[in-house]
Amino acid sequence: MAFSRRTELPHRGRLVTELGAPADKVFALRQVHSRDIVVLDNQPPQNLAATEADGMLTLRQDVLLTVTVADCLPIVLVDARGGAFGIVHSGWKGTGIAAEAVRVMQERFGSRPRDIAVTIGPGIGTCCYRVPAERAEHFEVAFGPGTVVHGADGTPRLDLRAANVRLLEEAGVESISIASACTCCTPGLASFRRQGAAHFTLMLAYVGGAELPRAEAAVP
Ligand SMILES: [Zn+2]
Repeated sequence: MAFSRRTELPHRGRLVTELGAPADKVFALRQVHSRDIVVLDNQPPQNLAATEADGMLTLRQDVLLTVTVADCLPIVLVDARGGAFGIVHSGWKGTGIAAEAVRVMQERFGSRPRDIAVTIGPGIGTCCYRVPAERAEHFEVAFGPGTVVHGADGTPRLDLRAANVRLLEEAGVESISIASACTCCTPGLASFRRQGAAHFTLMLAYVGGAELPRAEAAVP
C-alpha cells in the first residue's frame, strides 16, 4: 500500500513506475461507493477509469488492479487454487461488495470460497467511526443488535471490519486477514475524517498477477 495525494494522481503513475508495472497494465475505476464489480477479461477494457464501480476481478496474471481509500476499507481477494484475484473499495454504503466479489468469482471463474484468501486493509476503526443514528439503525437491523454497532455512551460507532467478516464468512470464506490500524487515529495514514474534506489524502491499495511484466524503464 502506498500514498498518493488526492489532487496529484500522477503519483499513482510514479508508484507504478517504482513497482515496475507498465502503465497500460494498471487499472483503476471511478469509485462511487457502489457494490458494482467489473470483470477484466482478455478484451482491452473500455476506459475503465471512467467506469463507475468499486471492485475489479480478473484471471489475467499480467495486470495490476488498484483502488484508492481514505477511511473506507480496501479488500483484496485471491483464489490461490484457480488464480482469480481482485480488489474492492468498501465504505459503509458499499458494505457487501466483498461478498459480492466472492459470488462473482464463483460464477465467472469457478472459484471455491474456501480457496479464496481475503485481506482487509487499513480503514476507519470502531474507535473513531461515530455514525448518525439512522446509519446505526440500518446496520443494527441488517446485522443484529450489538454485533457491528457499539457505543454504550449513546454515540453509536460502526465496526465495518466486523460487518465484512460476517458477510464473507456467510459467503463461505475461511481465510480472512485484517489490518487492525485505524486510518483516523494513526498518524501517517490517509483519513477523510481526520484530515477533512479540503485536505484529505488517499492511499492506493493494489494487487497484481504473478506475470505482471516489468516496465521498460524499470529494467536495469
Ligand atoms: Zn481510531
